[in-house]
Amino acid sequence: MINFNNLKMTDFDYIIAGGGAAGLSLAFYLSNSSLKNKKVLIIDKDQKNKNDRTWGFWTSRPTAFESIISYRYKKIEFISKFTNRTIPLGDYSYNVIQGIDFYQFIKSHLSAFTNFRFINEAITQINDLESGAEVITNLGKYTAGWVFSSLYDEKEIVKAAVSKLYLRQHFKGWVIETPKQVFDPESFRMFDFRTPQENQMRFFYVIPHSKNRALVEFTIFSENLLEKPLYEIALKQYISEILKLDDYQIVEEEFGIIPMTNYRFPAQRGKHIVNIGTLGGSSKPSSGYTFLRIQKHVQKIVRALENGKKPIISANSPIKYHLYDSVLLNILKNNGSQSERIFSEMFKNNTIRQIFRFLDETGGLKNDLKIITSLSPMPFLKSTINLLTRKIFS
Ligand SMILES: Cc1cc2nc3c(=O)[nH]c(=O)nc-3n(C[C@H](O)[C@H](O)[C@H](O)COP(=O)(O)OP(=O)(O)OC[C@H]3O[C@@H](n4cnc5c(N)ncnc54)[C@H](O)[C@@H]3O)c2cc1C
Repeated sequence: MINFNNLKMTDFDYIIAGGGAAGLSLAFYLSNSSLKNKKVLIIDKDQKNKNDRTWGFWTSRPTAFESIISYRYKKIEFISKFTNRTIPLGDYSYNVIQGIDFYQFIKSHLSAFTNFRFINEAITQINDLESGAEVITNLGKYTAGWVFSSLYDEKEIVKAAVSKLYLRQHFKGWVIETPKQVFDPESFRMFDFRTPQENQMRFFYVIPHSKNRALVEFTIFSENLLEKPLYEIALKQYISEILKLDDYQIVEEEFGIIPMTNYRFPAQRGKHIVNIGTLGGSSKPSSGYTFLRIQKHVQKIVRALENGKKPIISANSPIKYHLYDSVLLNILKNNGSQSERIFSEMFKNNTIRQIFRFLDETGGLKNDLKIITSLSPMPFLKSTINLLTRKIFS
């Protein structure tokens, strides 16, 4: 075990700039690898002691975080004006992890390692050096052989993505409790399109915590955010008109924005500065699902480091999926009202395994073609021609 008192406190093997989903995941896998004795500094401006988000993801395999899964569903519901389906998930399950449980789990795991440090400071600069990189904070300066950053600056990315498609997945959710037992704790309502679409993709999802408690989330895929009160108006309307609830209490709130862009995120921002998380391109452009992509990406980084290779690895989708995502993003941007029908066709005409494998980019060409040919072709043809002629796909 390394004794920090004998070390120069500002020199580290690795600095992890941002201790959120990607930063803490990277630290976790490092501590479980042959690199567990390396000196690692995690810097975050926040103490990560609040439940600032909830991660949902489907999987057919156990993850490293089985012990902190709060809710697990074996079926999903899809509701639109074209189709209503309750779909058993077969080998898959839909899992939900609360942010606070994840932060506490990893921090408690790392507390057994004296060579892993977590400090609360605000990072102001990350600079590349000849043989490493330095991180400057409001309180100090730290150096390391490699810096891994998840500090996402939306303005900077929007600027870099100026010639690309840049939409936002923005959502507001309430955890509500009601005296009536109205929710089915076995089933996750993944898409409910029963809300005015306004030529955008708008839907609700409902994550039941018990028969009388659920997270109800209003989600929009569009370029611009709504004015704040409009999220709450839509939530109230859905809860009273669709869920038919008048008597309920809001016990938690969540608001989030996830970029949906065909901008190719650079894997590095300096010779020794590696991008991870959303900043590294881990958010799936057409769905915003990120959590499991982060796990895969940071595990690849750890393997590269273990093998003495440079940990500069892109998290962007392979070119084929980049094209599919771009085509869909272009429809969402210019013709959002088509999305209810497109998603309905996808969920009606394919098995859940085919859909998940397509969205996970693991299905292979045959599976891709099965999904693609199950959808009405016109919007996709138009979007592809539009993309290629306007050169917003590259
Ligand atoms: C509310 C919400 C819900 C989501 N739900 C899902 C979901 O259900 N499924 C899914 O797959 N994805 C989801 N996502 C998308 C994605 O998984 C998360 O955004 C995820 O947290 C991204 O991980 P990250 O490490 O890139 O960023 P973060 O987890 O945001 O970590 C970045 C860290 O950097 C720190 N930081 C920023 N600036 C500085 C600075 N200057 N100095 C020091 N520290 C700094 C922040 O405090 C933060 O801790 C959700 C996102 C949000 C916002």
